[in-house]
Amino acid sequence: MPDVWFAGGVVADGTGRDPVRADVCVADGVVSAIGQAPAGATTVDLDGMLLTPGLIDAHVHLGISSPIRAHFGFQLSVAELAADIFATAGYALDAGFTTVRDTGGVDGGVVDVIAKGKVRGPRVLSCGPVQCQTGGHGYYGADWEPTELWERHHIPGLCALSLMSGNADELRRNVRESFRRGATFLKLCVTGGVVGGHDRLTDTQFAVEEIAVAVEEAAARGTYVTVHAHNNAGIRNAVRAGVRCVEHGTDIDEETARLMREHDVAVVPTFAVVEALMEDTESMDLDPRTRDKLTGVRQQMATALQISRAAGLRVGLGSDLIGPHQQRRGEELRIRAELESPMQALVSATRDNADILGIGDSVGTIELGMRADLVAWQQNPLDDAKAFADPDMAALVVKAGQILKETR
Ligand SMILES: [Zn+2]
Repeated sequence: MPDVWFAGGVVADGTGRDPVRADVCVADGVVSAIGQAPAGATTVDLDGMLLTPGLIDAHVHLGISSPIRAHFGFQLSVAELAADIFATAGYALDAGFTTVRDTGGVDGGVVDVIAKGKVRGPRVLSCGPVQCQTGGHGYYGADWEPTELWERHHIPGLCALSLMSGNADELRRNVRESFRRGATFLKLCVTGGVVGGHDRLTDTQFAVEEIAVAVEEAAARGTYVTVHAHNNAGIRNAVRAGVRCVEHGTDIDEETARLMREHDVAVVPTFAVVEALMEDTESMDLDPRTRDKLTGVRQQMATALQISRAAGLRVGLGSDLIGPHQQRRGEELRIRAELESPMQALVSATRDNADILGIGDSVGTIELGMRADLVAWQQNPLDDAKAFADPDMAALVVKAGQILKETR
């Protein structure tokens, strides 16, 4: 493939620096020069559009892409579940996301077919199934069904929502199994959650010693643990056990933020899912009671974001979208832009997310030697962040040097 210059655009490189007029050369999937395209070069003309790094969503659930109650009630065929998962992967790419971190629900096969290019989608880093305690968040079977039968609902190679562990030894076995089947990091639920009826947001789950077992197994493979956590007690347990990242972080207070800073633990707030669940409980096919659980969560999460920033935490960005309507993944950036600034939202979704995912040396900024993941925006989202949320505004999407969407 010849060198290609993406020319005539304005570059916001993902570091937070002010955007500058520059042409970007891509060779072998990597940014090989930034400056002025030479005369006669092969160019893709960007017509003054803003060029950003490909966006990263640090909290996705490709494996939960179907109407939720029908899915969790096991009423959908494998074909339908697969069709919905593959559609969601394509939507992510079309919305400008070139990397996603799947925080639970897909089996390794999905990651594989996307990596092979058989299914359109972003680069996927996956934890496989969510690791949960018996009776904890992440169990969606029937009330009458013994926990032992839950795993039989997995569809090997396609989806595996969660694995239940009754004690530290079972957890050790389950995380080893998850790694064998393609996980590259781990996610544990250490507090209750919103979706599902067996737990409350105030519950803590897994003991510190149990979480530490997962941390030990992850460290043995050179990777890390992130945790689903809403309340402070659960977050502090997880930080003491050695996890690297907290998802949601709804109630983070000053003391918890200080502890997280001391241990260099990052946080990934997730606003888009909260808004989607509030507005759209029925079309997502969720129990209307889910909405009651969400009262106050949005405001609390906004406060936690402020506290996290003030404490100097690394703050990522994740949509946590579930269900069939995942076209507008960039809503997370739009909301964060309103709470902070469009530039802060962009940096969280690019450089900072790449750092949290452990791929910051090759992805997340437009700099020499970085993988050429690029998005050109039809309207400048730094002027009006609504453009981040509108897939039609992502006019050109490039993953590792390959143009995978071009709509101009
Ligand atoms: Zn989630």
